[in-house]
Amino acid sequence: MAEAVVTGEHPAPTRLVVLAGPTAVGKGTVAAAVRADHPDVWLSVSATTRPPRPGEVDGVHYRFVSDEEFDRMIAEDELLEWATVHKVARYGTPRKPVEEALAAGRPALLEIDLQGARKVRESLDRIPGVEAVFVFLAPPSWEELVRRLVGRGTETEAERERRLETAKVELAAEAEFDVTIVNREVRAAADELVALMTLGARDGASTPDPQTSEA
Ligand code: 5GP
Repeated sequence: MAEAVVTGEHPAPTRLVVLAGPTAVGKGTVAAAVRADHPDVWLSVSATTRPPRPGEVDGVHYRFVSDEEFDRMIAEDELLEWATVHKVARYGTPRKPVEEALAAGRPALLEIDLQGARKVRESLDRIPGVEAVFVFLAPPSWEELVRRLVGRGTETEAERERRLETAKVELAAEAEFDVTIVNREVRAAADELVALMTLGARDGASTPDPQTSEA
């Protein structure tokens, strides 16, 4: 059974789902499928210092910012959490839009790395009345994860090696999460995620799908 962390005394907590998992497992693709099929779900747009990949749109996939701008966001406490990912770029979740979405009663989804998920857990008391569920998106196997990373073709060889090293550490963190969703097929994984956020979420029920195993 999914265990949610509830803070504050909000009568009908709004559900915040934090989706993490190893590199190339498909977090971004699953989040995009959620966005496409469930416009009621609010998806956080992270700030990042990495340059855009082909096809990525500023303000849609990420807010692409300079190092100086990222420093300013940290200094002014504009980020709910931030982390340096794969030792190359910084990524962070702008705090205000998350708070506004939750205050408006919309289920909210953060797709972030493991370090970020830990930081959100630590700072939950700063978002009153939120009910948070931490979801680990797992690959069907290690071989499949490597295949997806190579197949994506967006990283250099050195970058891939670095990401796979990070992935080994990230896979070992699964037990820290409330729920695991195995990403065998994007749409099924997205549906499982949405079920956690909306239907059945309030009474703590999780999806009965055999693809879902819970930590
Ligand atoms: P990519 O460069 O492939 O888009 O993302 C690299 C990693 O950064 C992914 O694991 C992704 O989940 C993570 N990431 C994206 N946005 C955030 C964020 O706002 N905070 C943190 N901590 N990680 C993020």
